Parts: sequence; C-alpha cells; structure tokens
Amino acid sequence: MTPRIIYEAIGFLLGLVFGSFLNVCIARLPRHESIVRPGSRCPQCRAFIRWFDNIPVLSWLVLRGRCRDCHQPIPWRYPLVELTCGLWFAVQAARLYTVLRFYFYDPTHSAPSSYAPLAIIANLAVTILGFLLIGLIVMDWQTGLLPNAFTLTGIAAGLFLICTQAIFLGPTEQQIVLTRQIHITSAGATTNPGNVFLTGPEALIGGRLLAVVGVVLLLLAIRWLYRTLRHQEGLGLGDVKLLAMIAAFLGFWPAILSLFLGAFAASLYAVVLLARRRAGAFTKLPFGSFLAAAGLVAAQFGDRIIDAYAQMLR
Ligand SMILES: [Zn+2]
Repeated sequence: MTPRIIYEAIGFLLGLVFGSFLNVCIARLPRHESIVRPGSRCPQCRAFIRWFDNIPVLSWLVLRGRCRDCHQPIPWRYPLVELTCGLWFAVQAARLYTVLRFYFYDPTHSAPSSYAPLAIIANLAVTILGFLLIGLIVMDWQTGLLPNAFTLTGIAAGLFLICTQAIFLGPTEQQIVLTRQIHITSAGATTNPGNVFLTGPEALIGGRLLAVVGVVLLLLAIRWLYRTLRHQEGLGLGDVKLLAMIAAFLGFWPAILSLFLGAFAASLYAVVLLARRRAGAFTKLPFGSFLAAAGLVAAQFGDRIIDAYAQMLR
C-alpha cells in the first residue's frame, strides 16, 4: 500500500460520513427543519432509524433499499449522495497527499514551506465547496430551492478561507503556481505586479471580494435582460447566490467557467426534453443543479481548462 491510497481511503470514508449528513440536510433544509434534531426517521412510516441501519451505503445494500419497518423503498438518491461525497473527498485527499509530499517529503523542492498552509487551506476550501455543491445539485433538482443555509453560508465560508490564506502571504506575493497539481489562485498573477493599492494579501482578499460582487452584478444584469425580453423569470436569486458562492471559493474566472458549462449543459438537457416532447417552451429547468454540477467541474479542472483557453488565445 502506498501512502496515497491510505489518504484516499481515509478521504473516502470521511466523505461517506459527510455524505450521510448531507442527506439529512437535503431532506430537511428546503423545509426549514432542524438538521440536528430529531434523529433520522423513515419518511413514510416515521419510525426512528436504528444506528446499524444508518451506515452509509452498506445499510442501504443490506436492506436492499427498503425500510426495515414499513418495507417502503428508500430512494437510491441516499447511497448515491454518500458515494459521490466519498469520491469527492477521496480525490481531494489525493490532492492533499500531493501537496504534503511536495512540501514535506520531497527534499528537492524549491518552494518555501510557508506556502504549505496556503495549499492546505485551498485544498480544504475545494473539499467544502464540493460538499455544498453536491447538496445543492440534489436540492434544486428535487425541490427547485437553493437554501440560503448553503449558498449564503458558503459565500461567508469561502471569503473566510481566503482571509485565512492571506495570513500566510507575504506583502509582495501574488499568485503562486507551484506545480501542475498545486495551483493557489489569487487575484494577481505571477506576471502581474499588482498596483499601488493592492499587493499581496490585500490583492488576494480584494480580488475575491471583487469576484463575488462582479458575478452578482453580471447575473443580475442577465436576470433583468431576460425578464425584459421574455417577460418571465429565467434566473432565480438562488442561482445568483450559488454562482457568488463559487466565486467566493474559486475566484472570478472559474465562476464564469461554471456559468458557461452550466448554461451549456442545461441547454443540451432542454433540447433532449423538447425532442422527446417532455417539455414546452416554458418548462422550468432546475438551472441551479446544472450550475452546481458545473461548479464541481470548475473546482477540479478549472485551472487546467482556463490555462488551456488562455494558451489558445495567445
Ligand atoms: Zn418506514
């Protein structure tokens, strides 16, 4: 066993536990119920779920997807959310291993180890963002709601983490690109010396704040335009807050990438629905689900996609 597999295994198990908690959030947040009390119950017969029937994925398989008390089916959404969370955490744990090996196990690296906390916080941020996005995908799909408990809290968490990162930046340091695997994106690039007002930590925090404000203004403009032209609501405020959350965690361009990918995927889906005569011109799509899924892609591959695009323009 290599250390990487140990990291991935621990990440996967941790992800399953968080996925199980995420299922509780998905079931209760859109109804404004407490996520702490009472304990989990069967939605059909209201029987309390025993601890041994509440083990992520395994219990669902053992029970063959049915409640032990009333034998009503338990939706496959439950194990799927747990598995997706498990996979996301495993992938991020593998990234964490790459970061730690780079700083602490590889004696030939040239980056000062004061950058290690930055990379670790960036890793943590992407993990948390994934947790929130997976939840929002399911909640918007099932209820058409994107609860503030996830989006607004997410914006605050993303900005808080960027401030935490800024603590570890020196006064003249901007974006740090260490390897292909480890990107620490911030407002300024390595080639951009910043300006009189914004250098180092201020550029990092100021840039991220600007990213959130910029994304909100852009989407509000699109929303207004859509309403003026088609006389109906095309973009909910929940979608605006969702994209602002992605911007708070990842920055402006990854958020724009999410918007494009999400809009593209939603259009494809709409075309399929129209072709199969399942929808008309005014059917409401869960756009937030597509946006959140695109956010996952941007969180994992955004740096590489944006780099490749920038190369193409050169
Ligand atoms: Zn039941």
